[in-house]
Amino acid sequence: MTPRSTEVAVIGGGSSGAVVAARLATAGVDVVLVEAGPDYGPRRAGSWPAEILDAAALATTHDWGYSSGPVPGREPWTWERARILGGCSAHNGAIAAVGHRLDYDAWGLDGWATDDLRPLFALALEEMQVRAYDAAEATPFHARCLDAARSAGWFLASDLCNLDANESFGLETVNVVDGVRWNTAFAYLDPIRDTAQLTIADRSLADRIEFGTSGVAVHIIADGGTSTIAADTIVVAAGVYGTPAILQRSGIGDPDRLRAVGVDPVVDSPLVGSNLHDHPMINAGRELSDRLREDISAALAAGFVPEEQTLGKACSSMATDGVFDLHLFPVCASTQTTLTGGRAVVEVACMTPQSRGAVHITSADPEAQPHIDHGYLSDRDDHDLVVLQDGLVLAEELLAQPALADALIDEPRRDLSAEAIRCDVQHYYHPVGTAMMGTDPSQSVCDHRGRVHGASSVVVADVSLMPQIPRANTNIPAVVIGERLASFLSDPELDRTNLRAS
Ligand SMILES: Cc1cc2nc3c(=O)[nH]c(=O)nc-3n(C[C@H](O)[C@H](O)[C@H](O)COP(=O)(O)OP(=O)(O)OC[C@H]3O[C@@H](n4cnc5c(N)ncnc54)[C@H](O)[C@@H]3O)c2cc1C
Repeated sequence: MTPRSTEVAVIGGGSSGAVVAARLATAGVDVVLVEAGPDYGPRRAGSWPAEILDAAALATTHDWGYSSGPVPGREPWTWERARILGGCSAHNGAIAAVGHRLDYDAWGLDGWATDDLRPLFALALEEMQVRAYDAAEATPFHARCLDAARSAGWFLASDLCNLDANESFGLETVNVVDGVRWNTAFAYLDPIRDTAQLTIADRSLADRIEFGTSGVAVHIIADGGTSTIAADTIVVAAGVYGTPAILQRSGIGDPDRLRAVGVDPVVDSPLVGSNLHDHPMINAGRELSDRLREDISAALAAGFVPEEQTLGKACSSMATDGVFDLHLFPVCASTQTTLTGGRAVVEVACMTPQSRGAVHITSADPEAQPHIDHGYLSDRDDHDLVVLQDGLVLAEELLAQPALADALIDEPRRDLSAEAIRCDVQHYYHPVGTAMMGTDPSQSVCDHRGRVHGASSVVVADVSLMPQIPRANTNIPAVVIGERLASFLSDPELDRTNLRAS
């Protein structure tokens, strides 16, 4: 049974939230982890759906179903987010990346400099069982990509998951164990499921936080009823869309906007939901030759054939700091039904996006979808667009190398015009930034310890905190955020019960 009061309530058991809950419970803190999606129990019990376990392709069940609705001139956007214990780590591509040291140093926040984070990255990589694919595991398609990169003059590297590495191409690092996508529920929660300090309340939707004279409480909807859990500290780790929505439903946000949707303002924090950004992405692709299809079928019959396995980091003409601002990653469908529509593509992502959007609730109903406007490619100087154009030139160069050209069917090169790119741009599944940390309360939502300015018993602990996205896939950085926040919250110098007064 879920306790009605606890020391710490963590809302959201995803990439970051599962880590915070596990670390705090291990440190002896009473924790209730509130997760909207299902918990299928320990991995060893064998109850997790096969699609969630299979790391060969993205999982599509257990999604919140966020989308843009009709958009003039292009296909609607879908914004995938997992509703399950483990969060997006349970349905993502399981590619492990860390970005570049300049990324975290640029945040300028106490405790978040790259040298502060290095031990936490090491810990996260170990707990998530991250390893690089080795050459013997290269699929027929990705073996050709390595050859193509070599002949196109790329520097081939064996370790792409390195905060000090720059331009290079190689086999990816992944959190995949025997073909299983290793999510944070397996990595962090399974070892302490029997601990009395931890209660996992799954299929429990957090509605809002209530501020009373004696503390804070979170309102939950579960089993067709409502209840509250009082806590000394409430950690909000509901992800980039869920976290700002919970804060806004709790009265933390722009007062005029809140009143307009029927929420009484409690804390004037106009930037909640703003600074939404992501890596925009586009691709160049080709149909597979019969020969490559046969090679892939033979490999499939023999075992695990991931669609994504190699990655290049490159500089566009906009990379003024001399550090890569592009990811190029070939993806080859192993079947006709996958996301690439049975084609081989080189995806190109802008890793230093300048465009910004926002997420805002449209009603006080916790099941209602918030309004999400990503503003992809909306930056005034067209920085993000130019990075993608430069990246597409590199992608076409790669596809033209004999190792790939011989295995793919020749097609006209991709249209590099701004109109074509704006029409086809996609995303890399890495939205962040909607409750950003900062030192100036008028320019941020949270302080460097994740405490909401003006409501310090509420602590944000997920990718919403990022002021600027790193040049990395965001799962391992999310795990590191969980580690960092857990270390702050279990800091004996910081009495959690005193947080309310600070
Ligand atoms: C399809 C896809 C592929 C991706 N591929 C990769 C990849 O290969 N490598 C990589 O590094 N990154 C990848 N990412 C991105 C990465 O997985 C995310 O950035 C990361 O998981 C975000 O972690 P988080 O803790 O901020 O949020 P999440 O992991 O989304 O966790 C939020 C949790 O909160 C829960 N929640 C939300 N609202 C409520 C509420 N009201 N009440 C209770 N619970 C709630 C959610 O159900 C969820 O479990 C991918 C993402 C997607 C969607």
